[in-house]
Amino acid sequence: QAKSGGKGRITVVDTSARAQAHDKLRLVAELREAIEQRSISLVYQPIFGTGDRRPVAVEALARWQHPQRGHISPVVFVPVAEESGLISGLGLLVLDETCRQMSEWSRTIGAAAPQRAAVNVSALQLDASLPGQVESALRRHGLSPSRLTVEITESALMADPRAARQVLHELRELGVELAIDDFGTGYSSLAHLRHLPVTCLKVDRSFVAELSDGQAAITSAIIALAGTLGLDTVAEGVETDAQATLLDGLGATYLQGFGLAMPMGGREATDWFVTRRSPLPAGGGDTR
Ligand code: C2E
Ligand code: MG
Ligand code: MG
Ligand code: MG
Repeated sequence: QAKSGGKGRITVVDTSARAQAHDKLRLVAELREAIEQRSISLVYQPIFGTGDRRPVAVEALARWQHPQRGHISPVVFVPVAEESGLISGLGLLVLDETCRQMSEWSRTIGAAAPQRAAVNVSALQLDASLPGQVESALRRHGLSPSRLTVEITESALMADPRAARQVLHELRELGVELAIDDFGTGYSSLAHLRHLPVTCLKVDRSFVAELSDGQAAITSAIIALAGTLGLDTVAEGVETDAQATLLDGLGATYLQGFGLAMPMGGREATDWFVTRRSPLPAGGGDTR
């Protein structure tokens, strides 16, 4: 009996492993199709200056609305793309669409347009072909390099530090801004950081969340470090006014979070920027 029970268990595990593998293959095929048909879309979350709370930039975030499975988070499909060789296609799509949207905004809403857009770049995209891809996306859409920020996670930098450093230097030479995403969650050495041509640290939202429990040590240290190195900071995941006020006091450069603005599709973001950044009334102060 024990034997057959054991066998049964093995069969069940085997079946479910096969079902899982099959499921994964199907997801990969569907993701490939979604990328080819450009049915992965982007949403844009505004990033605000700390003092005047003006929206100065956006972060582009990928969205996949699956016809049967509904919304699939990038936390799920980005790793699938990485494992299946689809990440370069996804990365190109994100770069191209962000540059296209930025140049459309410049044409249609002019001064109300965000000054910069940030794109997330996977560790696997951080190879010798990235600078050329960025340059051609910028050129294709007539966008000035200073209007693009490339966000890289700490772990991406640590995978192959020397290769990453070379790519970052080439990107920086193009004139794009470079931000380290989710800063503080990886284990990048500070000594190493000093030799990277980054322009901004994004304080991970786990540290911003701690501010609400009176724990400001990490956030405060990261902002101080950035200041010493001459880098800007973006505090991620700002959900409350209290957090924003504390971050003001700590000297963060920029704020980003659901408490200030949600990520929005292109059209919604257009309306949002037009309303938020309409020209100042003569003599009037804009406190929004
Ligand atoms: P990330 O780059 O750190 O992006 C910020 C994430 O935090 C976004 O989640 C955003 O919606 C969310 N967020 C913003 N404000 C708040 C807040 O106040 N509270 C909370 N709880 N969350 C907030 P999203 O869009 O689900 O993206 C998750 C991650 O997936 C991103 O983290 C990034 O690592 C990755 N990702 C998204 N789009 C892309 C992409 O186009 N390419 C690559 N390679 N990765 C992407
Ligand atoms: Mg990011
Ligand atoms: Mg982040
Ligand atoms: Mg994060």
